Amino acid sequence: RHHPHRRRTTVAELFYDDDADLSLIQSKKVAIIGYGSQGHAHALNLRDSGVEVVVGLREGSASWSKAEEQGLAVATVGDAVRTADVVMILAPDQVQRTVYAEQIEPNLKADAALFFAHGFNIRYDYIAPSAGHDICMVAPKGPGHTVRREFEAGRGVPVIVAVEQDASGQAWDLALSYAKAIGGLRAAGIKTTFTEETETDLFGEQTVLCGGVTHLIQAGFETLTEAGYQPEVAYFEVLHEMKLIVDLMWEGGISKMRWSISDTAEYGDYVSGPRVITPEVKERMQAVLADIQSGAFADRFITDQDAGGVEFKELRTRGEQHPIETTGRELRKLFAWTETRDADYTEGSV
Ligand code: NAD
Ligand code: MG
Ligand code: MG
Ligand code: MG
Ligand code: MG
Ligand code: MG
Repeated sequence: RHHPHRRRTTVAELFYDDDADLSLIQSKKVAIIGYGSQGHAHALNLRDSGVEVVVGLREGSASWSKAEEQGLAVATVGDAVRTADVVMILAPDQVQRTVYAEQIEPNLKADAALFFAHGFNIRYDYIAPSAGHDICMVAPKGPGHTVRREFEAGRGVPVIVAVEQDASGQAWDLALSYAKAIGGLRAAGIKTTFTEETETDLFGEQTVLCGGVTHLIQAGFETLTEAGYQPEVAYFEVLHEMKLIVDLMWEGGISKMRWSISDTAEYGDYVSGPRVITPEVKERMQAVLADIQSGAFADRFITDQDAGGVEFKELRTRGEQHPIETTGRELRKLFAWTETRDADYTEGSV
């Protein structure tokens, strides 16, 4: 279409800046609920794109003054929602249901559009908006801090876009306009559905990106240190170098990474990789996917959260206590090039 030089290699439908009309979202009042990782990025990018934004927060929220300092209007969730044409819900997934029921729904204009950055609450029916509302998703495929940083640099993080309910007949145009305003269509927008986004997002983070990688690294670290190797050396081999390898895959796929590594490393990849990631691993991935599709994972997560997150906190503490965290903390102090750029993060308190 507008990018003939970009060869389509998949069947997915892609959108770019030329496919969206910025003036549509500029004519709306947008409430951003929550001012965390995604919330701050959406609010600031929209504002810088000429959109009227109000941030909706709990009274006494620590984010309140931070948003105000950045020049944004801030109100309670109810007040923010009352006059909004578009409500983007960027509170944590596990509290969205309660915030929606208690503060959003009672104040929502009859024809307001509801936006999400992850399909969780719609896919598993924790939120079931009435028929008059557009239900849209604009989900950046990257952390919120990157979404803001890239926008300021004149670039964007790719987004996936979906419409679950098109009450206005304009939901797609509105979703694309929003996606353009946060900078997503500078990279690309990919058309999906709430179901596909939710299930693939949960699967990716559980089996590969987060759960897979962390447990692979920990198992490698344990194997080396239990065999008597120095933890500092083990840390470099199984964690520090991970980023360098991933950067190469990100740039040019697995093939580019294999091209760049030594033939020794590449041969070891072929012969030993399948000894670790055996066919049973894929069967277990399929079992995880089945739990995502059935709603069993969502139910376990929300049930624990409703009970105060007892299991969640215990698992987080156990993770922080793994010996690789201590080794890494000490070692990273010695790296001249390491800096933590995200001001909200304090090491040792996820
Ligand atoms: P977060 O935990 O970083 O921030 C959530 C914010 O919500 C808090 O900072 C607070 O300001 C606010 N909040 C918390 N409880 C609230 C309440 N009861 N009422 C009102 N506001 C409340 O959340 P996040 O990681 O930005 O996730 C937000 C949404 O974006 C989720 O749906 C998530 O799945 C999705 N998402 C996140 C990322 C990411 O980079 N973290 C990426 C893609 C999609
Ligand atoms: Mg978070
Ligand atoms: Mg994801
Ligand atoms: Mg996710
Ligand atoms: Mg090496
Ligand atoms: Mg090579």
